[in-house]
Amino acid sequence: MKGLPYFACGKIVKGFGRGSRQLGIPTANFPQEVVDALPDEIEMGVYYGWAQVESGPVYKMVMSVGWNPYYNNVKRSMETHILNKFSEDFYGQQLKICMAGYIRPEENFENLDVDLLSNGETQLELPEMKKF
Ligand code: ADP
Ligand code: MG
Repeated sequence: MKGLPYFACGKIVKGFGRGSRQLGIPTANFPQEVVDALPDEIEMGVYYGWAQVESGPVYKMVMSVGWNPYYNNVKRSMETHILNKFSEDFYGQQLKICMAGYIRPEENFENLDVDLLSNGETQLELPEMKKF
């Protein structure tokens, strides 16, 4: 996949409450300037990699690069679901990510709990990840 690995960093902003948390898949949203810096060669879809909040531990993550309904779908969005249970929200805190690999061309996370997160641990042990 072109443009990988890709590193990004920014302070987490409020999203548009698409109910991801109710589905058990909270997605931390990057601010628009971080999304605008994403090269065009990075295709829409779901990626996997690593994430760190402030100077905390590094966790696995899955990220959706999609269209942002807040901007009538003319701008993109980057939403990161970290594979860890946090006791508190981290809005306003610095999130650092490394996108390492491409999973599939799905814009939303809606189906992720079914075919990815339900056995995320196994599926995310992809051979590609072992290279890093
Ligand atoms: P929003 O619409 O504001 O993005 P979400 O329901 O998608 O709301 O929840 C995202 C927020 O949940 C994040 O900004 C973060 O503060 C918090 N959060 C808690 N646990 C996680 C996690 N494992 N991955 C991502 N965000 C999480
Ligand atoms: Mg979100």
